[in-house]
Amino acid sequence: MLADALSETLQSLDNTAKSANRPVPRLLAVSKTQPAEAVAALAAVGQCAFGENYVQEAQIKARALAALNLEWHLIGHLQSNKAESAAEVFDWIQTVDRHKLVVALSRYRAADCPPLNVLIQVNIDDEASKHGCRPEEISALAAAIAAEPRLSLRGLMAIPAPHADPGQQRTAFRRMKTLFDELAAHHPQIDTLSMGMSGDFPLAIAEGATMVRIGTALFGARAPKPSPTA
Ligand SMILES: *Cc1c(COP(=O)(O)O)cnc(C)c1O
Repeated sequence: MLADALSETLQSLDNTAKSANRPVPRLLAVSKTQPAEAVAALAAVGQCAFGENYVQEAQIKARALAALNLEWHLIGHLQSNKAESAAEVFDWIQTVDRHKLVVALSRYRAADCPPLNVLIQVNIDDEASKHGCRPEEISALAAAIAAEPRLSLRGLMAIPAPHADPGQQRTAFRRMKTLFDELAAHHPQIDTLSMGMSGDFPLAIAEGATMVRIGTALFGARAPKPSPTA
């Protein structure tokens, strides 16, 4: 049951944070590929923040569930030509990695909405195939975001490359925490370091994640094979 999965996950975040002597992170429930009904079921037991990878998929669910007042986060790559819809649908964009997006999001965020919360996505393992800015680009992007009244700079996000060796996995999270602390020295209002997924959240929490993004551990595996009918 989703309610059980939620309480087990929250308990696990709590235990991990306490044993690592860290604050308990916020849970972002990653609802990509899940139907609106599954989101509503989690919302009914108290979960209010949901992460989606695609603008259009989120738009459909957010409209269907508008009455629930949920908080929607974009955690997938954002193309500039989708910035207008993204600025309308989401409360948070976790994947801002270039100046062009800063300009587009701020242009399209409606004046009667609260400022759009923004995280800068960092390509922490310098993978050619991954989105995210390089660490040395963070401070200029942060300054551009902070200068836009329609945007609110909240912190950093990363999707480190999976490492079989937990020590190496930890290193990427630790480097993110260092970058976060350096950014906070110039932007003391930032409060969010989004890192850690179902497979690696304990390491991320131990290194200082303030938000973890969890899909599989909550909803079960995505795109399950159809069950045999015979
Ligand atoms: C899918 C996804 C997650 C959740 O992954 P799980 O392994 O299912 O917990 C977290 N972050 C991002 C960016 C994702 O795309």
